[in-house]
Amino acid sequence: MKTQSHAQAAAEFIKDDARTHWHDETLWHVRQKRDLSAQGIPEWETLRDTASATKDYVLSHLGELLEQFETNALANGIEVLWAKDAQEHNEHVYRILQENKVSNIVKSKSILTEECGLNHYLEDKGYDVVDTDLGERIIQFAKQAPSHIVLPAIHLKKQDIGEIFHEHIGTEKGASDPKYLTEAARQHLRKKFVEANAAITGVNFGIAETGGFVVCTNEGNADMGTHLADIHIACMGIEKLIPRATDLGVFLRLLARSATGQSITNYSSHFHKPAPGKKLYIILVDNGRTEQLGREDFKNSLKCIRCGACMNTCPIYRRSGGYSYNSTVPGPIGSILSPGKDLKKYSTLPFASTLCGSCSDVCPVKINIHEQLYKWRQVITENTDVDASKKLAMKVAGYTFGKPVLYDLAGKMARTALKITPDSLVYSSLNVWGKHRDLPDVPKESFKEWYQKNRKS
Ligand code: SF4
Repeated sequence: MKTQSHAQAAAEFIKDDARTHWHDETLWHVRQKRDLSAQGIPEWETLRDTASATKDYVLSHLGELLEQFETNALANGIEVLWAKDAQEHNEHVYRILQENKVSNIVKSKSILTEECGLNHYLEDKGYDVVDTDLGERIIQFAKQAPSHIVLPAIHLKKQDIGEIFHEHIGTEKGASDPKYLTEAARQHLRKKFVEANAAITGVNFGIAETGGFVVCTNEGNADMGTHLADIHIACMGIEKLIPRATDLGVFLRLLARSATGQSITNYSSHFHKPAPGKKLYIILVDNGRTEQLGREDFKNSLKCIRCGACMNTCPIYRRSGGYSYNSTVPGPIGSILSPGKDLKKYSTLPFASTLCGSCSDVCPVKINIHEQLYKWRQVITENTDVDASKKLAMKVAGYTFGKPVLYDLAGKMARTALKITPDSLVYSSLNVWGKHRDLPDVPKESFKEWYQKNRKS
């Protein structure tokens, strides 16, 4: 089946004008909360510099740090498993469940398990995996994927959630009060927690020095799951390491502020060894990360701590929604990670950007996101079949820009054409850009003409 381009998928999303505006405003509100929170601490930029340098160190010493982590985790009594790809990761989880005769599984939010398609894999084997993060549970009921890495159900309104809950957990028809719905979800999930004999979590930070790891949630669902179940399976991308426990303070302060504007996530849970009588497993997953590390221009993308700030600020993401990216990690960072997995399938993603650089400005670990997007464009243009009309347009533009006389003439013609063309045509369906935008007044002269008159001595 042919994959939709970003533009085609975005066209579906923006059909609903009101929802598009609401989505845009909601995420911009999260961005503003992030700004307030970041501006509240004077050492913000120092924290970003420190985090960025720490992650640079991690990426240049990844092999030895992973070995150090494994040695310490094993010494703590944690069973460590390695997975080269999603298939191996899923097989490890399945084997652990089988060996421990697990029947009921609860899972807290983990982008890695989404990336590996773990839920579908286990469902095919007859397991019912219950996602316990509220947003994740909502989209699990709706049989949808997360549309955002921190706010997985951000594309849904409370009325949509009311309908989903009415159908799946029997809330009153038409009820959409968030308090009522949250309480209903709490009661529903409480039973699942009590029945579970295995809990699956992601990992926010693995600490090489101690062999322990940290899981951050706002709902306490990871803690509830892991403390009640006898088996804890933690799934961690190999890039999630930090060298020392003392590095944690920097990352925890940056993560929460960048993600939601909170000073700290409600629960930052530290796991170091299995509780007496229980088992703790950690699966270290590569799944294309080593390959990305080998791409000099793109390896910095592995510094990502999955805060979602680049999505909340991106004018394209906010207006086109997470599903238009058709990949587990959407938005600016997803548009760097996905082409590395499948260049052809994701070839339109790096073009879904204005290259305004806002993503790089907010990134807590200072990834040069917009520069990498620009770089991918060059790689894609050289290695894939770019749309013929786009190729022709770029050729004509390149030729025009290369000939000053032609460029001046084209500018003059465009200014005259815009002056005499009636608004009914400028803002017609022929010009999709005019749908939500007014063109500025046409200047009477070009910048070059203005400069020659006013500045050139
Ligand atoms: S790239 Fe930066 S801003 Fe985007 S999710 Fe990752 S850490 Fe956050």
